[in-house]
Amino acid sequence: MAGREILLEVRHLKKYFPVRKGIFLRAVGQVKAVDDVDLYIREGETLGLVGESGCGKTTTGRAILRLIEPTAGQVLFRSKKRSGSGESGREIDIAAVPPEGLKALRRNLQIIFQDPYSSLDPRMTVEEIVGEPLQVHGIAKGSEREDRIQKLLAAVGLNPEQMKRYPHQFSGGQRQRIGIARALALEPELIVADEPISALDVSIQAQVVNLLQDLQEQFGLTYLFIAHDLSVIKYISDRVAVMYLGKIVEVAATEAMFSDPKHPYTEALVSAVPVPDPDYQGQQILLEGDVPSPLNPPPGCHFHARCRYAQEVCRAEVPLLRDLGEEHFVSCHFADTLSLQPIRIE
Ligand code: SF4
Repeated sequence: MAGREILLEVRHLKKYFPVRKGIFLRAVGQVKAVDDVDLYIREGETLGLVGESGCGKTTTGRAILRLIEPTAGQVLFRSKKRSGSGESGREIDIAAVPPEGLKALRRNLQIIFQDPYSSLDPRMTVEEIVGEPLQVHGIAKGSEREDRIQKLLAAVGLNPEQMKRYPHQFSGGQRQRIGIARALALEPELIVADEPISALDVSIQAQVVNLLQDLQEQFGLTYLFIAHDLSVIKYISDRVAVMYLGKIVEVAATEAMFSDPKHPYTEALVSAVPVPDPDYQGQQILLEGDVPSPLNPPPGCHFHARCRYAQEVCRAEVPLLRDLGEEHFVSCHFADTLSLQPIRIE
C-alpha cells in the first residue's frame, strides 16, 4: 500500500463543542472531541481508527465527511473520479467547500452507520432506500434505476426479489447489507464505516466484515473503518490509527502496530486482544483510572495519569506525533527508548 497515492489527508482537524450553562446558555467551556488530528488514507487501503468509547473517533469520521462542521483544519480529498464536484485528480478541501458544493462531493464520500435499525427509514421499501441516492443525484431513472438497485442488492448478498419489502422484514445483518448497498449506490471512492458491525450478533459480524473486504476488491474502495474492537481492526485494516482523548497517539501498518507498539496506550490496548495460542505468554496490561474528561484534559501528555512509564516531562509538555520511520507515527516523549510488549498476529 505504501506506494499508492494518498486519497484523503486530514491536517490539524479540530471539532470543539461548546458547553453552555445558565438561563442565557452562556458558553462556559469546550469539549475538545477532536483535537488537532493528522492522518492520511491511501487509495484502496483500509485505515482502522480505534480507541475507547468517547475518544472522538466517530466525531472524526463525521467531521471528515462534513456531517458535522469541523471547528478548524483541512480535509484534502484527491479524487480520481470525474464528477460534478470538479475535475478528476483535483485536490478539494472538504472542510472549506461551501454548503451548496457538498451534494456533489457526497457522490464520492459515503458512510455506513453503526445501527442498521435506526439508520434505515422504516416507511421506505428497500428499493426506495437504495434508490434514494440515485434519485437525489438524478443518476438513473425507471427501469435503469431498478436494474442498478437489483445489481447492488445482489452485490451485497441480498435477494433482489425482496426489494419491495420494508426494513423490519429483515434481520440485523441483512439490514446492514441494505445500508452498505445504499452507500455503494453512487460508486463512491471513500467509505467511512462507523462501527459497522458492533450492533450485530457476533455470529454475523464476520460475514459483514468479509463482505466489506470483497466489495473493496470488487469496486476499488477505500475505507476509514472505525471500531473499538481491536480484533476486528487487526483483521480488516492495512494500517491502524489509535486515538486517545481527541488525539491520534499512534499510526502504523497493522503488523507493526501489533508486533512493535510504540505508545504505552497502544501497548495496553493490544495486550487485551485474545491470541489463539495456548503457549502465548503475554500479559494483559490493565489501565488504572478513568479516561479524563475532554472538557478538562490533563496538561502535557493526555495519557500521563494512566501511563506506567510517565515521567516529569510528560506532565508539562505535549508530545508531538513524530515519524519514527516506515510510516510509524507516535506521540510519546519516550517512543524511541521504551521497550513495549508486542503480541503475535496470525
Ligand atoms: Fe506515557 Fe509520557 Fe509517553 Fe505520555 S509521553 S505515553 S505519559 S511515557
